[in-house]
Amino acid sequence: MIPFNLSEYQNRRTRLIERIRALSPFQSALIVIPAKNETVGTYGVSRYRPDSTFLYFTGLREPEAVLILDVRPHSAETCLLLRPKDATRELWDGLRLGVEAAPEALSIDKAKSINHLEQELVQRLENHQALCYSFGKDSPMDALLIRLMQEQRAKVRQGIAPIEMMIDLHRHSDDMRLIKSAWEIEQMRHACKISAQVMGEVMPRVQAGVNEHEICGFLLGEYVRRGLSAPSYTPIVGSYANACILHYNDNNARMPDNALTLIDAAGEYYGYCADITRTIPTARQFTQAQREIYEIVHAAHSAAIAQVRVGAHFNEYHEAALRVITEGLIALKFIEGDVATAIAEERYKPYFMHRTGHFLGMDTHDVGLYRLHHEWRKLTPGMILTVEPGIYIRPQAHIPAQYHHIGIRLEDDILVTADQPENLTIEAPIHIRDIEKLKS
Ligand code: MG
Ligand code: MG
Repeated sequence: MIPFNLSEYQNRRTRLIERIRALSPFQSALIVIPAKNETVGTYGVSRYRPDSTFLYFTGLREPEAVLILDVRPHSAETCLLLRPKDATRELWDGLRLGVEAAPEALSIDKAKSINHLEQELVQRLENHQALCYSFGKDSPMDALLIRLMQEQRAKVRQGIAPIEMMIDLHRHSDDMRLIKSAWEIEQMRHACKISAQVMGEVMPRVQAGVNEHEICGFLLGEYVRRGLSAPSYTPIVGSYANACILHYNDNNARMPDNALTLIDAAGEYYGYCADITRTIPTARQFTQAQREIYEIVHAAHSAAIAQVRVGAHFNEYHEAALRVITEGLIALKFIEGDVATAIAEERYKPYFMHRTGHFLGMDTHDVGLYRLHHEWRKLTPGMILTVEPGIYIRPQAHIPAQYHHIGIRLEDDILVTADQPENLTIEAPIHIRDIEKLKS
């Protein structure tokens, strides 16, 4: 069954309304939140996936819908425009909630047909001081609102006052989405747990001679078979040199013997995404060189997770990972100098060129500001972020051949709590001994 929590969605709308109302000194605002219309799926999977922010405030998983929150100083009205019932279209495309059922099903004050969108907006825009909307995400809606505002300006001689203030919706809704509620954490736990279990099960299948696409197919099948709604993103299954291509997703090469295969893959649970990476040898055991690099990345991963704590700022766990990786690269003589200089001069960068993580939630690269007023954001309970350090070694003259084409990334999903960081993907084996045991 698709997870749905009526009071959760209601509560989010109330909090957004309160937030916008608190932005003095205006009197009234119209908040407009469109669903995405195109039925292209997330990351190439053909299915409808609503815009995360629309889903966050409504729980409705239908295209062609717009949520309007009409905010006055002492009252507010919620109005949803959605597709009307249509027996023929429903026969082809699936059931629709419909206008009549929507108010009760979604706890909305009013529901109307999406065919009345323009009329509804014209009426409501005329009586408001501010428009709260995010331009740049939905071109047809952008165009409609711009035209309606122009038309409204042309009516000043009739005594109509145009909108005088624009408020960016996402600046506010992103901030709300960044801190997960108890119910959201439950959904995230589920996506993370299943994804981590699948990652453990794919490990014995990583063998010389097997094609990367077989691994990819297994992952995709298992997510759906176990009740996740889709992959969070196109899996990355890169063996040998492909492991060093950060966003490799051709996933079609035969895996050679004694190579490492990097798998960055996870599933989504109806709007909540996991994001996991493990690196697995095609042989039964890691080679000595693979083991050395793996242990550095694993140590960086552990050092980083220890910094995912309340009060630390967002960059601290990246700094912790960076330090361990730089020390490791110096010890191996891949780079020179003392640690501080090597970090200051970014000498690690040819080997570790990405950041150590990102926010995670309804989107894999989730919303939320990483810096507030030029300062890195402080970590707060309810934030979920990835910890994903890596080392990628392309052939270079000063690096011994046994290290060439080693690409290792280890990624887990971590919940910031008032106490210790909680690893939501801990079930995916990460210790060398556990991985080798799975392969024996
Ligand atoms: Mg990832
Ligand atoms: Mg990630």
